[in-house]
Amino acid sequence: VATSDGGVAIGVDVGGTKALGALVDTQGAVLTTHVVPTPAEGEPLLDAIAGLIVELAPAGRELLGVGVGVPGLVDGAGVLRFAPNLPEIVGLGVTAGLRRRLPDGVLPAPARLVADNDANCAGAAELGFGTAAAESDVVVVTLGTGIGGAIIAGGTLVRGANGFAGEIGHMIVQFGGEPCQCGKRGCWERYASGSALGRFAREAAAAGRVPGILAAAGGDVDAIKGEHVTEAAAAGNDEAVALFDELAFFLAQGLANLAAALDPGLFVLGGGMIRAGEALLEPTNRCFATLLEGAEHRPIPGIVGARFGYLAGAIGAAALALGVGAAE
Ligand SMILES: [Zn+2]
Repeated sequence: VATSDGGVAIGVDVGGTKALGALVDTQGAVLTTHVVPTPAEGEPLLDAIAGLIVELAPAGRELLGVGVGVPGLVDGAGVLRFAPNLPEIVGLGVTAGLRRRLPDGVLPAPARLVADNDANCAGAAELGFGTAAAESDVVVVTLGTGIGGAIIAGGTLVRGANGFAGEIGHMIVQFGGEPCQCGKRGCWERYASGSALGRFAREAAAAGRVPGILAAAGGDVDAIKGEHVTEAAAAGNDEAVALFDELAFFLAQGLANLAAALDPGLFVLGGGMIRAGEALLEPTNRCFATLLEGAEHRPIPGIVGARFGYLAGAIGAAALALGVGAAE
């Protein structure tokens, strides 16, 4: 990572409802943050991101780069091609649009401006400053409403031919299975994400199996969400632990598929669901070891929790702007 002492970077994490910007130093420490609502359309979104950058631009310290993470397919030219949760935005030139908007002097000439998928940003945060910092081959899996992925091979983020590598949530694990936002059926994220956890919990509640979780959701089966289960598991609730056992089976299947393809030395799990801690990690490691090809004859990669929580995307966008995960 080529940086100079005292320099800083700005990372912006664009979510479906809000955009979080952070000023980050070269050690990954967050100095300040700023949040704005996410506009639903492209040009207003670029205006909002540019406003965040101007707001966070450091006085008296060198700005080394700006990174923007967005929830969708971003190509190598910084164009957001498709974002399932921002359906009105298609083919938006993020880096080009920001360059036009930023006032002179905000982004000095050598500073980088990059845009990338939000899960790649979370991966860069862990690679640059977190749990994956000592690893060269690792898969960072973000477990939220869906499943995002960042594949790191030989210390470099794998981008694929078009920049779209790491869409691991849409690997098909159940032929003809549950319908997915992407238009297909049986995608991994329908079985092992926070929304899948919510579905398992609603099914269990309807069958009378999880009265405590049902009560926590106000007694309404349809109001149960994955977050209810995660919070209950974090508090050691047995009903929630049993639901995580169920989810871990599906989670481990996808991880075993990734291990077959990539042979990583480590899996790092992040996103909101990791708040469940060992209730998630213990059964996932246990199931994974039974599914890994030749497990008795090879090192079994660990499955561990991410260092960064809700700031991962912004820290990682800044990390990418600092050159973390870039090819030599
Ligand atoms: Zn899908």
